[in-house]
Amino acid sequence: MNILIINAGSSSLKYQLMDPNSGEVFAKGLCERIYIDGRLTHKVGDKKVVKEVPMPTHAEAITAVLDILVDAEHGVIKSTDEIDAVGHRVVHGGDKFADSCIIDEACIKAIEDCIPLGPLHNPANLMGIRACQAVMPKTPQVAVFDTAFHMTMDPVAYRYAIPKEYYENDSIRRYGFHGTSHKYVTRRAMALMGREDIKIINCHLGNGSSLSAVSEGKCRDTSMGLSPLAGVCMGTRSGDIDACVVQFIMNKYGMTADECLNMLNKKSGVLALSGVSSDFRDIEEAAKAGNTDCALALDKFAFDVRKYIGSYATVLGGCDCLVFTAGVGENSASMRENICRGLEFMGIKIDPVKNNIRGEEVCISTDDSKVKVWIIPTNEELMIAQDTAELVMAAK
Ligand code: AMP
Repeated sequence: MNILIINAGSSSLKYQLMDPNSGEVFAKGLCERIYIDGRLTHKVGDKKVVKEVPMPTHAEAITAVLDILVDAEHGVIKSTDEIDAVGHRVVHGGDKFADSCIIDEACIKAIEDCIPLGPLHNPANLMGIRACQAVMPKTPQVAVFDTAFHMTMDPVAYRYAIPKEYYENDSIRRYGFHGTSHKYVTRRAMALMGREDIKIINCHLGNGSSLSAVSEGKCRDTSMGLSPLAGVCMGTRSGDIDACVVQFIMNKYGMTADECLNMLNKKSGVLALSGVSSDFRDIEEAAKAGNTDCALALDKFAFDVRKYIGSYATVLGGCDCLVFTAGVGENSASMRENICRGLEFMGIKIDPVKNNIRGEEVCISTDDSKVKVWIIPTNEELMIAQDTAELVMAAK
């Protein structure tokens, strides 16, 4: 089976053509500078080709992707008829989607209704969907939501303690993000542990970071909120912050709410604390060279993650399995070590030799550690492909 995965942003579009059963990626790439001029970077194995292709809208970007997939020189299929279905990443499903769904007009309307909740992403995701419908009208399309995995939370976890009308009229509540990644590593963790009735704390640590507390495969709490700004401090996001900080800064510096939120989303986090970079590799290097602001940024990040791990063990009433995933979680042995330092009291002991590894699916806890600690490389594209294939097969 061939599933095309589309992740459409406002001026870019990532794609992968893969087999949902084996996980084999036949081709992948990126369209950039949509609406400006248009550039396509296409990879098949180690071979890479870059082409300038006019992309006045997302439709031309999708056409360029389909053209190169069937291209005599760079293509991997003979005809677009060989694409069985398209899986679209959609960021905000609001409280309308607890699962992935086959795209029809009702689904599109519901995604449109979620635009106020995901104003930065949902319009771009919809453009990707519309463009695919226009150029491949007969191919089934599926929407896979970043928020869906977290819809099993109870009201105590998802409600904010603010007047009820904002929840009832405006759907203001915790949603959580990175759901496709949390779902993927949860499934892997249950398979690796050989049981489904386990308590898992997932740490998706990348440029954006979020944690989830999972039992019986269901999300019970997650650190991001209405938007991805909440939770632990991140590459450029502040994470949890007292709302009065926003009021103070807006008043003192004459900022609008949008300007202040832009600062909290794009100019904060470890970028602000380190004064060097939002990239953890740069910060680790500078900290090693003696930069104390960088050391603080790393310690603050580890502190926030550690604090959430402790609180999620309480939410779950214990923890059997701690999972590290995404760029930092999979690759930074020193950050994993920093986070787990001091957690021996709750049965978390990592083995420094086993921990000295990057990007492999491997258990890094000591044999006598009560909690099993795993690195599980995430694969959101595979999760999207599997959800898409499952729904399309079931609808046949
Ligand atoms: P992601 O958002 O999941 O792509 O993760 C991106 C983040 O992972 C960036 O901040 C990178 O610096 C970080 N990262 C990738 N490789 C390493 C590494 N070897 N050590 C530390 N951080 C890394």
